[in-house]
Amino acid sequence: MNNNNTSNTPYDYDLFVIGAGSGGVRASRMSAGFGAKVAVAEDRYMGGTCVNVGCVPKKLYVYASQFSNAFKDSQGFGWSKTTPSFEWSTLRDNKIEEISRLNGIYDKMLDGAGVDVINGRARFVDQHTVSVGDKQYTAEKIIIATGTWPYKPDFPGSEHAVTSNEIFDLAEFPKRIIVVGGGYIAVEFAGIFNGLGAQTTQLYRGPLFLRGFDQDIREFAAKEIAASGVDLKFNSNITAIEKQADGSLKATLEDGSSMETDAILYATGRKPHIQDLGFDNVNVELDSRGKISIDENFKTSEDSIYALGDLTPGMELTPVALAEGMAFAKTQYNNQPTTVDYNYIATAVFCQPNIGTCGLGEEAAREKYGEITVFESNFRAMKHTIGGREERTLMKLIVETKTDKVVGIHMVGEDAGEIIQGMAIAMKAGATKAIFDSTIGIHPTAAEEFVTMRTAKN
Ligand code: NDP
Repeated sequence: MNNNNTSNTPYDYDLFVIGAGSGGVRASRMSAGFGAKVAVAEDRYMGGTCVNVGCVPKKLYVYASQFSNAFKDSQGFGWSKTTPSFEWSTLRDNKIEEISRLNGIYDKMLDGAGVDVINGRARFVDQHTVSVGDKQYTAEKIIIATGTWPYKPDFPGSEHAVTSNEIFDLAEFPKRIIVVGGGYIAVEFAGIFNGLGAQTTQLYRGPLFLRGFDQDIREFAAKEIAASGVDLKFNSNITAIEKQADGSLKATLEDGSSMETDAILYATGRKPHIQDLGFDNVNVELDSRGKISIDENFKTSEDSIYALGDLTPGMELTPVALAEGMAFAKTQYNNQPTTVDYNYIATAVFCQPNIGTCGLGEEAAREKYGEITVFESNFRAMKHTIGGREERTLMKLIVETKTDKVVGIHMVGEDAGEIIQGMAIAMKAGATKAIFDSTIGIHPTAAEEFVTMRTAKN
């Protein structure tokens, strides 16, 4: 039953949402809360990629992988030597239980909001009609929120490689693993498996991973990640994989060399998950990258059809999809026209150490503003003095010289993912370097460096 529904729609629904991931659930729930009659179709799992095979399980595994360093650090602080051992099945099964708890919460949230949940993959029949199984539903508006799906190139033996969809649930912990790719997912998983004790190699096809990030940050992260134990091989790629008699895998590389391993993870990007949606029956245009083109109100080239989240051209981030779902609902069903401000969206890469970033990198800022001033701090965190780790932290502030406005903030170091959120607020508020300088720091923290950098690098 739709509790809040005040609709007199001639259609079955005011709004039919395809996909119950972050964006789809937020749009459904809020629209129903504003009085719309809403259904959401989901063919896999409630909460989509983020909850099931993305942000949430990834962060749990990052926490798990950080204990190995914590055990080592503890000895310098007086804890007696211990030889902890890691049990993959415990982590995996606890994760499964936690995710199933979250799936239940999503179900309850939708039910509580009065959204009809329909299990199955929806296909367009026409601009106002979808079919799910042998049933058809009509709606005034339809949202496509089916997210993206891991992309794995096709080559001999590629079927032996897994993607982020399968990696969390491997039956056995791989003692050796190769991670292919140089984006968020690859560096995060290389850190996870390295921290959990696997002999980890990361292969990236280009000269330096994390393309698009600030150059210093990329170089510094590469140095720290290599020092943490990941074998980083740049300008490297796999051409074939063979399964051997003992179950291990043999990867042949472009240079003709080969590597033996127990698992190979392909983290080589994601593509819109729009196959079998019945696009033959509607006029939904895609851009050159295969993403769904939309206007600022998420409307596609078809008047009644909208799209939001990862399968649209913007940043592929859960909080962006949530903001889009919210803006859609307010605009359409609460008489409150709302667009999303895509400026100064902070992101974190949960590699080890973390990367936190907001705004432009040095190269991009120089190109956009011409004259910039760069401030930098490179230090060994206090914890590592007694703890004994050599790990260093890098922090960077990029300022437009003419206006004194801070236009880029970057960090590689412990808790960068936590620290950068507050920085993003300052940037959105238009903070100048003078405001940063007049802010009193919190001592002793790493974050205080952001308000104590006085000498320009250039
Ligand atoms: P990305 O697009 O970030 O990275 C894909 C990587 O794979 C790139 O390094 C790319 O190389 C490489 N690659 C692509 N095709 C091939 C190929 N055929 N052979 C070898 N290498 C290849 O994708 P991810 O899968 O890492 O992540 C997808 C999105 O998910 C991200 O953009 C991010 O927005 C989001 N995400 C966010 C997280 C967070 O907020 N912490 C965590 C995880 C994901 P090249 O650079 O040369 O193109």
